[in-house]
Amino acid sequence: MADAPILVTAALPYANGPLHIGHIAGAYLPPDLYVRYQRLRGRDVAFICGSDEHGAAIYMRAMQEGIDPQAIVDRYHGQIQEAFKGLGIAFDYYGRTTSDTHRETSQEFFRVLEKARIFNRKTLEQLYDAEAELFLADRFVRGTCPVCGYEDAYGDQCENCGSSLSPSELINPKSAVSGTEPESRETTHWYLPLGNIQPQLEEWIATRKDWKPNVRGQVGSWFNDGLSERAMTRDLPWGVPVPEGVDGNVDGKVLYVWFDAPIGYISATKEWAEEQGDSDLWRRYWQIHEDGTEPTLLHFIGKDNIVFHTLIFPALLMAHNEADESAPQWTLPANVPANEFLNLEGRKLSTSRGWAVWVHEALEAFPADVLRYGLAATLPETKDADFSWGEFQARVNGELADVLGNFVNRALSFTWQFYEGIVPLLDEPNEEDQRVLEALEEFPDRIGNAYEQFRMREAVQETMALARLGNKYFNDSEPWRTREVNPQACENTIHIALQITASLAVLMEPILPHSALLLREMLNLEGVRSSEPGGQGAPIMWEDAAFRLLSPGHILNEPAILFEKIEDEAVEAQRNLLEERAVASEIVEDEGEAEELEEAPFAPIADTITFDDFTKLDFRAGKVLAAEPHPNADKLLRMDIDLGFEERQILAGVLGHVEPEDLVGKNVIVVANLAPRTIRGLESQGMLLFAEDREGKFIPVLTEGEPGSTVK
Ligand SMILES: [Zn+2]
Repeated sequence: MADAPILVTAALPYANGPLHIGHIAGAYLPPDLYVRYQRLRGRDVAFICGSDEHGAAIYMRAMQEGIDPQAIVDRYHGQIQEAFKGLGIAFDYYGRTTSDTHRETSQEFFRVLEKARIFNRKTLEQLYDAEAELFLADRFVRGTCPVCGYEDAYGDQCENCGSSLSPSELINPKSAVSGTEPESRETTHWYLPLGNIQPQLEEWIATRKDWKPNVRGQVGSWFNDGLSERAMTRDLPWGVPVPEGVDGNVDGKVLYVWFDAPIGYISATKEWAEEQGDSDLWRRYWQIHEDGTEPTLLHFIGKDNIVFHTLIFPALLMAHNEADESAPQWTLPANVPANEFLNLEGRKLSTSRGWAVWVHEALEAFPADVLRYGLAATLPETKDADFSWGEFQARVNGELADVLGNFVNRALSFTWQFYEGIVPLLDEPNEEDQRVLEALEEFPDRIGNAYEQFRMREAVQETMALARLGNKYFNDSEPWRTREVNPQACENTIHIALQITASLAVLMEPILPHSALLLREMLNLEGVRSSEPGGQGAPIMWEDAAFRLLSPGHILNEPAILFEKIEDEAVEAQRNLLEERAVASEIVEDEGEAEELEEAPFAPIADTITFDDFTKLDFRAGKVLAAEPHPNADKLLRMDIDLGFEERQILAGVLGHVEPEDLVGKNVIVVANLAPRTIRGLESQGMLLFAEDREGKFIPVLTEGEPGSTVK
């Protein structure tokens, strides 16, 4: 299995707007980190993406702008590709769904399924915009979400709660083209009966136990609700035409964009194979080999695309496999490591409200690696995460510049200052030297394991841990002192410090590809395998970074600064830009928020108590030492709290509101004189204070008071 070819796909960006950092953190940086790591391991991996250029939204926008849809997708296809390139997202191939290969591939796919009678063809009433003379499929209809009440939900999906919808479910539907209330007309479409396929899907998903909990949880809840059939065709003048030669009238009908978009991964792989001069090469990554080898298919996406990649696309592949069992069989996704959403400065990203950081603009202000680092360290892997410019600056200055950059600079400058840029000899290393060399040996596998399990943030932390180790070792060994009193000890320190920088040049490459290249040049480190597509080169591999990559006597090049610190003015400028744009769309937002406030009132004030009642309560500051889910209850959190004078076990029903690991190390407020009680077999020795907001979410009340302090 380890040798099976790996195909990594990243969600096809929709070609009707530029990319923002939320897109990057969701579906593009994670697979780039993963693929670069796999390339450095020397594994057979292909990284495929492309622009999704069909769908109603693009057609609608073209109508509004009075231009051809092709002009819109051409514009954004180019811009998006530039943004990826600037950020160093290194696909093996970046295609587009308006290509001939894609049209042929998706039409053939449809034809096979239609011939095998996989679809149900049904005539039904559909919303029609009489003014624009257009059937209103999915995104042409906007209205109120029946699940969460969000007023601007699309006909196929609510962006607010993620529910999958059909246009007829919307309350107060309106045509997004003319704004008029749509009428009903008859039309015929091909439906994928997901309900029939559900048992097969459930059986298959049950074998994917290593999927992320957020993905399995989401899929499980859809299974509980029961899957319903989904139309795979649309009435629309823009898209891949439903192929001729199938039963029924195909006039004016195109394939549903979520039928053809995932097939876009296949078409793009075909085009890549063509480019490699081996037109059958794509099969190696998509189909089970004759010897039974199954390629590893990985879809990196954001959480809004989970349904399409875990249910609809696999259902299509399964149906295609069954339609012709003698043909090569498609592989099903081995994993779909979907990310949650990235918020910006504590608010939901919103392009319509101007609350977004565009990649092409951010690249004008900061180097690509610095942006990659800031995003990689805050990826929304298990829950929504927040990106703020303040934290970004703190990370870049405090971690990249002060730890990694500083360590590399000290090691190289010292070598130039006292050893003419030549790697000194290691001779009779002391205990500490040996301990550090042994620690170094563990890093490639430790960082690698994090990548293998899609824990990119952990991989970032572990990579920085190696730089920290180097920095601390350099400080503790005091080479500036030993140089006078014990020259060999000094040489040993510098020798080992340089080995760590060389290992860093390999191990930091997935996260910081441009800086890794620069560091490699400074170290004059030849023969390093590259994480770029097709990077072969000679033989320094990921695992070699465990050992000493530099020989004594090796001559270094002159050092240069790896990371410049970010000035306050630079982040201030970004914050101002954000505020200016948000103000421009403020009116719309004020209306929206005012309505939300009416729907969610504050809790009423409780009955009045006397001062004596109040003084009976003994509040104390306490530090959370450990927090974990209660072993026998869904919502309960079990915590160990240090009250200064003693330790307490406290239970709180807040799981799902807070992440246990976020609480650890925080100082909280405890009701210390509450009678203990036992909940589900564990005794709770007090209570923690939480603020409950209007949506019913619990937020811990934190204090700076030291554990044991009274709170009055
Ligand atoms: Zn909703």
